[in-house]
Amino acid sequence: MSISDRNRPAGLGAGGAALWNPDAVHLALVNANVLTMDPARPRATAVAVAGGRISALDEIPPGAARVVDLRGATVLPGFHDAHNHMIGFGMSLGEVDIGSPPVGSLDELYDAIARRAETAAPGEWVIGSGYDQNKLGGHPHRDGLDRAAPGRRVWLRHTSGHMCVVNSVVLADLGLDAAATEVPGGRVVTDSGGRPTGLLEERAQLLMGSLVYPYPLAELTDAIAGAARQYLKEGVTSCTEAGIGGGWVAHSPAELAAYQLARDQGRLGVRVELMTAGEVLHPLGAHADDNLVAGLDLGIRTGFGDDWLRLGAVKIFADGSLVGRTAALHDPYHRSGGAGYLQADADALRDAIIAAHRSGWQVATHAIGDRAVDLALDAYAEALERHPRPDPRHRIEHFAVVQPRQVARAAELGVIAVPQGRFAAELGDGMLAAVGPDRHDWLYRQRSLLEAGMVLPGSSDRPVVAGAPLLGIDGMVNRRTSSGAPFNPDEAVTAEQALRAWTWGSAYASRQEHVKGSIAPGMLADLVVLSEDPTAVSPERIAGLEVLATITGGEPRYDTGVLG
Ligand SMILES: [Zn+2]
Repeated sequence: MSISDRNRPAGLGAGGAALWNPDAVHLALVNANVLTMDPARPRATAVAVAGGRISALDEIPPGAARVVDLRGATVLPGFHDAHNHMIGFGMSLGEVDIGSPPVGSLDELYDAIARRAETAAPGEWVIGSGYDQNKLGGHPHRDGLDRAAPGRRVWLRHTSGHMCVVNSVVLADLGLDAAATEVPGGRVVTDSGGRPTGLLEERAQLLMGSLVYPYPLAELTDAIAGAARQYLKEGVTSCTEAGIGGGWVAHSPAELAAYQLARDQGRLGVRVELMTAGEVLHPLGAHADDNLVAGLDLGIRTGFGDDWLRLGAVKIFADGSLVGRTAALHDPYHRSGGAGYLQADADALRDAIIAAHRSGWQVATHAIGDRAVDLALDAYAEALERHPRPDPRHRIEHFAVVQPRQVARAAELGVIAVPQGRFAAELGDGMLAAVGPDRHDWLYRQRSLLEAGMVLPGSSDRPVVAGAPLLGIDGMVNRRTSSGAPFNPDEAVTAEQALRAWTWGSAYASRQEHVKGSIAPGMLADLVVLSEDPTAVSPERIAGLEVLATITGGEPRYDTGVLG
């Protein structure tokens, strides 16, 4: 870390302070194709960085400590993933990959589990993640897992994160070997004879908590560091973690401490915004006039923190997964009886959203099906009516199956929808099958949101799908499933719009567009250098462009050599 970093070591005393000149340009990128994402000045050819921030465009003041000739390479604001699961992704790096080739069938999945079981240490669990029953022909079954890994504990997560499969040893640990138990907002799936199959849906996954939670902070910190290394290679300089500290997405009630520890250890790498799981909000006992009916201890809420680590919205799950067919639809899934379900009683969800709004939180409601979307929109409307508040920027995560009237209403309420571009490529076939042709043009809208005046952020939901922003941008522009089918192509956006989503749009969704998401004097010097301009190449080539360097706070954190 150089002294030019805004986060310079605390031990730097008076002598150090004399050396610290925030106005001195320590890095200048020249001969560049700069896409600023600032409508007032969309293009530039050079960027100067001083004190960790952008200090000038085009005209570089003399005396820069380091001048890099980019030979025409493209510079953008660093990518910001508006919805990811950083710890979940970091942990998945050490798990069996059951979401991509060679795992294309259940037999191949069982083979992969058997291979890991053979080499694992005695007593070690076999954990896998990323399977999609649409691609395998069905969910894995406890009996198949028992044969693949005799005597082991096996735990496989669905690609959506909304369900998992365990084997008989784990079911026995949970007391579910022979019969299921009722779980509100979830399901222990059984066969026709009432015997659990190993599949645990939605909140039934909480049962696993008694066996694995909480994880030690050291393990979570390693996961954060591993994820950050990968993010920087892909041009990510900021990300929003979509739920910590409670519910089935949590790894520890002290999850925030893992991020703080990673930062203390210099391993955070990227700027992180943390969404609090709705489950951990509680009454604060503050003065009645303060309206703090739902909060965290000490009254901290959305916005607390700094440029590197801050609290974002509160995350409330209204429903489940579209490819897993648990998301709450108004009309049943195509060729199947059910219409999904809400993760809690509708009144309880509405009350939780309104209480969080009233207490000053930005609210991010996970709503995939059109029924869940209506619930979120109704709750936001009621919250704003009963407790008016300027510019709350409430969000709906995924916003997956959306009727035209719902777009108009979301726009009217100032709601930010947070869809995932990469879902088309990896999950699109399963989604098209789940809703059937009559609802194909309601799926994962983008263009109609922009046309309605809504802000569109960029996000991956990693580890649900691959998280590299260029893959997400490719998905937003090209909208093709893995089988080659068009995925609601009318909702495609241009490369320019997709880039703006992954930079300015995500910053806006985090209430941070005044400090990042565009390249202008005074903004944080978070930059990505690409081999070519995504707006100038044919759309099919976007996914293959190379990230040459990633700069956060003016410091190169990843460099293929282009920065010299
Ligand atoms: Zn998510």
